Amino acid sequence: MSNDKIKSLSSILLPPLPYVDNALEPVISANTISFHYGKHHKGYVDNLNKLIAETEFADMTLEKIITETAGKADKTAIFNNAAQAWNHTFYWRSLRPKGGGEPPAVLKKKIEASFGALDVCKKELATAAMAQFGSGWVWLVLDSNKLKVVKTANADLPLTKGIKPLLTIDVWEHAYYLDYQNRRADYVNAVLDKLINWNFAAENLG
Ligand code: MN
Repeated sequence: MSNDKIKSLSSILLPPLPYVDNALEPVISANTISFHYGKHHKGYVDNLNKLIAETEFADMTLEKIITETAGKADKTAIFNNAAQAWNHTFYWRSLRPKGGGEPPAVLKKKIEASFGALDVCKKELATAAMAQFGSGWVWLVLDSNKLKVVKTANADLPLTKGIKPLLTIDVWEHAYYLDYQNRRADYVNAVLDKLINWNFAAENLG
């Protein structure tokens, strides 16, 4: 077995999309998916594998790479690519065809206890998405047994703060520009109404 072959076994993989590339239409087009998954997400994974080859990070899990490089000025490129690889996999799973609607009972109860009502939770997610200046992510998280909405800039993620993410929405322009141009609110509201995967969020409650 060649060295290249051995190395490829321990590299970070691009997970398959959990649905076909036109499954989220008409909210997110197959064209957007082809660039977002096929170029952006794949690009982060490919860059990361180049950056970690033959380093102390080569055999670490993605999560370990993220926590080991977070906040370290000389490891920014590795952190950014690792975090973006993780964030995108989490984002694809935060969406599903025929999503939206009512969360499973256990999650709905928790949402009502934390926000008062599901609509308030959705509105907080949309407001945070609009308030994020430039590229980033909005998250529904579990923090000290309470659900909260948080936003992060660029590649940043709740994982590094010890907060448990339940779901995320990508608000980088590449997530919506082909379908919505500058109308971020239209993208976010359509995702919340028609694609958001409350089942995934409920699973993450643990
Ligand atoms: Mn993205």
